[in-house]
Amino acid sequence: GAANVISPAEVVRDCLVLTRRQCEAARVTVETELVTEARVLMARTELQQVVVNLVLNAVHAMPQGGVLRLSVREDREEGQAGLVLLVEDTGTGIPPEILTRIFDPFFTTKRAEGTGLGLSICQTLVSRAGGRITARSTPGQGSAFRIFLPRAEST
Ligand code: ADP
Ligand code: MG
Repeated sequence: GAANVISPAEVVRDCLVLTRRQCEAARVTVETELVTEARVLMARTELQQVVVNLVLNAVHAMPQGGVLRLSVREDREEGQAGLVLLVEDTGTGIPPEILTRIFDPFFTTKRAEGTGLGLSICQTLVSRAGGRITARSTPGQGSAFRIFLPRAEST
């Protein structure tokens, strides 16, 4: 898709509307901290795809319910002004030996419905927009996916 000047906070709000039923069905409580409307240069549908993927992965990791936290704030990385979008869950977590493989195409631990393409596509789309995606996790406590995107110059 064509890149546009878009607000990640707005995209997060849209994605929460799109995934509300899944969150409710899984008894997942959603918390947001969207403290900036600063803009990035990225196709809106691509950032939506990334955020929906991360939200659905988080929901799958909380079969007993839990808390999904989405935040957007301004940050700098290596001297570059940008935004950090965090997707955090209180789910199963990811063992260290698995954490190194989750961005590989077709890597999945899901028996039936998993394609293993979600995070690989997320990484491709984020890096195409000049950003980076990383994951941290504490097994038994939860996981956090962090996306850094460079700020659009015009905002
Ligand atoms: P899929 O969801 O189809 O399995 P993904 O690329 O989206 O493929 O994710 C790959 C794997 O990473 C998942 O199968 C799962 O093992 C792990 N994973 C991703 N997100 C989470 C999360 N929030 N909590 C626990 N495990 C996760
Ligand atoms: Mg997935």
